[in-house]
Amino acid sequence: MKRIDCLKAIYPRLDDCAVVTIMGAVAAELYSLGHRANFFYLEHAMGLASSIGLGIALCQPNRKVVVIDGDGSVLMNLGGLTTMARSRPKNLVHVIFDNETLLSVGGGAPGGYKWFTTATSTGTDLAAIAKAAGYPRAQLVRELQDFEEAALDAINGDELNCIVAKVEAEMPKSFLMDVHMLENRFEFPRWLQTKGGMN
Ligand SMILES: [Mg+2]
Repeated sequence: MKRIDCLKAIYPRLDDCAVVTIMGAVAAELYSLGHRANFFYLEHAMGLASSIGLGIALCQPNRKVVVIDGDGSVLMNLGGLTTMARSRPKNLVHVIFDNETLLSVGGGAPGGYKWFTTATSTGTDLAAIAKAAGYPRAQLVRELQDFEEAALDAINGDELNCIVAKVEAEMPKSFLMDVHMLENRFEFPRWLQTKGGMN
């Protein structure tokens, strides 16, 4: 399963969601599908997309928040899962693309994936950890159709939900992102003040 195909499958549904991605490949791939003001690419803060998403979800309970995370990021902020589960925001969906590598910080180099694998490559089950942390729902998917079904169900649902998607360790076609970090930093909060999320 390819990450870009998963993103394509949910992209139309992200229209009215606050979307927070981690840095690197997944941010570049989401951007390549078409930037929107409701997308925030959390560059240079590896591990913290779920924490930012949690803050937004708690401040704007009427807004659906979709966090798009990675295995490396989640593994370096495992405590974030327990905080998330403790708060249990009903309006947050936590998508974790698990390619079993630190792709964006070296794993994508020729042969790099062999040396930049994460613990999920040796058996760590992030969906099981999320569940044990207290997420009411968490599941692991390996097929595109299963991902699409689970992700759309979660976004349309009313419960904290985690979907761990096993994907290939593949670099994006391009890392070009013609949205400056500062621009994104101001554009996104302005969008958060628009209709849909304010109480
Ligand atoms: Mg990874």
